[in-house]
Amino acid sequence: MAKKLSKSRIISGLQCVKRLHQEVYHPERAEISDATEQIFAQGNQIGDLACQQFPNGVLIDRNPLSEALTKTEELLKNPDCPPLFEATFEHEGVLVQADILIPGKEEVEIIEVKSSTKLKPTFLKDCAIQHWVITGAGHRILRMQLEHVNNQFVYKGNLNYDGLLKQVDVLEEISPDLKQVPVWVEQFKTMLENEEPEIKVGPHCNDPYSCSFKSHCYESLGEWPITDLPNLGKLALELQEEGHTDIRRIPEDRLSNSLHSRVHRVISSQTPELDPQASVELAKLSYPRNYLDFETISFAMPIWEGTRPFEQLPFQWSCHIEDSPGNFEHFEFLDTSGKPPMLDFAEKLISSLDNDGPVIVYSSFEEVVLRSLCNRFPDIAEELARIQARLFDLLPLTKKYYCHPEMRGSWSIKSVLPTVAPELDYGDLDVQGGQAAQQKFLEMITPGISENEMKQGRTALLQYCKRDTLAMVKLAQFLGRT
Ligand code: SF4
Repeated sequence: MAKKLSKSRIISGLQCVKRLHQEVYHPERAEISDATEQIFAQGNQIGDLACQQFPNGVLIDRNPLSEALTKTEELLKNPDCPPLFEATFEHEGVLVQADILIPGKEEVEIIEVKSSTKLKPTFLKDCAIQHWVITGAGHRILRMQLEHVNNQFVYKGNLNYDGLLKQVDVLEEISPDLKQVPVWVEQFKTMLENEEPEIKVGPHCNDPYSCSFKSHCYESLGEWPITDLPNLGKLALELQEEGHTDIRRIPEDRLSNSLHSRVHRVISSQTPELDPQASVELAKLSYPRNYLDFETISFAMPIWEGTRPFEQLPFQWSCHIEDSPGNFEHFEFLDTSGKPPMLDFAEKLISSLDNDGPVIVYSSFEEVVLRSLCNRFPDIAEELARIQARLFDLLPLTKKYYCHPEMRGSWSIKSVLPTVAPELDYGDLDVQGGQAAQQKFLEMITPGISENEMKQGRTALLQYCKRDTLAMVKLAQFLGRT
């Protein structure tokens, strides 16, 4: 029997036909990352907010789909039909659900809700597919709106989210895509009747979405896949065209990018490289040395007054202060009260970093957060700017002077740490990554959390952030020992 298509399956097929084929026949191969889960959760939150604009709206239960189709048709026959959420339609074997449908006398208005702050081209394709199916099912569309998050919105409190969402009429803009929809539908139906297509990995694996089958596809390239070369872009496709899937088999003179050449050399020889210049440069750093790391949270729907959607808001920091070589003291901050943590975060940071030593971070993230704190709190902006001026980013230095085959072309602290201090693996921690830390923080500030859960959650967050700064300490010791 022909496999049914849906809007999301067509969007997957437009990204990569192999992705669509696997979604239909091998969904078990998909890996949903914490980041993707978070995007889904934010999407649901924004979707719920959009629906609140229509208090008399009726939600069509999507299970089972056959009943959702019948219920939609029945309700739309009624001249007093209320706005519908998840109204379900089918045309030529393609199923779609409209986020919000507003019935009119002889036509309907469709609102497609997105939790993004930007209008992406793929959203127009989404709307074109909706339009094709809904009109094919016999309904005239008067207006087609894309509703998305307004990044200029500033939350004023009291659960007042007026202005958080803004609508754009896309009826005209979707016409070029609209003509293509039947072509896509036929193409994908035929493709699904055949064996899994052979598609090479490449930039499309992350565009417009990070594909959930990357682990499966990349693993099939071999033990040292070319995808371990950083920022490969179109070169991934060229190398595969030339028959190269394993980094070690690429001829040395084929790579012109110096970073690629270095990763290639280190992986091919299985020999780590550490340039003694790293130690020379680190020796220039005075004491006390402050190893600093921040954790932040962002909300599609801001919860603290004066904040914007998706603004990075700091709630935790960890700092190892090395007064003299090998002599450490640890300081930390974590606010799980549920109140805005930013001011306390900044003030405690200023008082703990009350010295003239360099502030060692790993990436430019802390600088960005400090800059936004300066703007938010003009009264303490000078002190914060002084910390900012003392920042020393360990990442570029590490990238310049150190490379290990097991880092697999990544200089993230979690890739580097196992090669310099394997005993400090994050595997023993309850929270093992930034996304998980955000999730844990959200649990902490949710009303009704038990005392025990709060205690365990705080411990998990504190251990995680402390591990990040300890990782920097170990890395600096490793780089500085030559
Ligand atoms: S990882 Fe890349 S090649 Fe594999 S299915 Fe996804 S997009 Fe296609």
